[in-house]
Amino acid sequence: MRLVIMGPPGAGKGTQSALISSKYGIPHVSTGDMFREILKRSDGLANRIRKYVESGELVPDELVVEMVRDRICRPDCEGGFILDGFPRTVAQAEALDRMLESAGKELNAVLYLRVSEEAVVRRLSRRRVCERCGAIYHLDYNPPKRPGVCDRCGGRLIQRDDDREEVIRERLRVYHEQTEPLINYYGEKGLLVEIDGCKEIHQVWEDVQRVLDPIASRGDC
Ligand code: ADP
Ligand code: ADP
Ligand code: ZN
Repeated sequence: MRLVIMGPPGAGKGTQSALISSKYGIPHVSTGDMFREILKRSDGLANRIRKYVESGELVPDELVVEMVRDRICRPDCEGGFILDGFPRTVAQAEALDRMLESAGKELNAVLYLRVSEEAVVRRLSRRRVCERCGAIYHLDYNPPKRPGVCDRCGGRLIQRDDDREEVIRERLRVYHEQTEPLINYYGEKGLLVEIDGCKEIHQVWEDVQRVLDPIASRGDC
């Protein structure tokens, strides 16, 4: 299955992608996670992208597109993938179409998690992530068993630098301006499936499976 998951920052894309990846056996390709890995280093590429990520701006399209092209050409993506955080601009979506077309492949669905702006701010301001494995928690909605410690790997839980209020506001502005147009882009292609992202995590997951189970069992992807 080749999927895209979209929605505003904090919609629950990473949370649902992890569940999708494990149930359907497809790699979770998150451009945000890839950038955060790169930023742990201090080479030329890290220095080029740091200012964008830290201020909540988008990294230039050419750079992101090349990174995704390299990633989805790897053998583990042969049977499909879920793209989280990409595409984020119409130019990125067009580049993805060209990549898939030249490989004779296509997207099966674009999941759009719809959530209110207040919910997003509540979620992002109390999000915590595992420094080591990237697992996602929320202090109220999905707390770890032991405060500050990852249930999965024992790693330390941290707050992302860009989950501060000023940066959250900027990320939302950028989302409305540059990413929201993709809702129409994929709507017109008949690929968009809207999911109510305001429900609790396990209820959203039920709805996601209701959409994906039939696609997965068609076996033509
Ligand atoms: P995104 O990848 O879209 O930015 P995340 O999956 O990281 O979003 O979720 C943002 C925050 O909201 C995290 O703290 C996560 O635990 C929490 N969260 C995710 N889905 C829900 C939900 N359906 N209800 C409440 N909180 C949620
Ligand atoms: P969110 O929790 O807002 O969904 P992500 O983890 O997807 O955040 O992205 C974090 C940051 O990484 C973005 O604010 C942006 O600077 C950069 N980034 C991630 N994906 C892309 C992309 N497809 N195009 C441009 N910049 C990106
Ligand atoms: Zn962990």
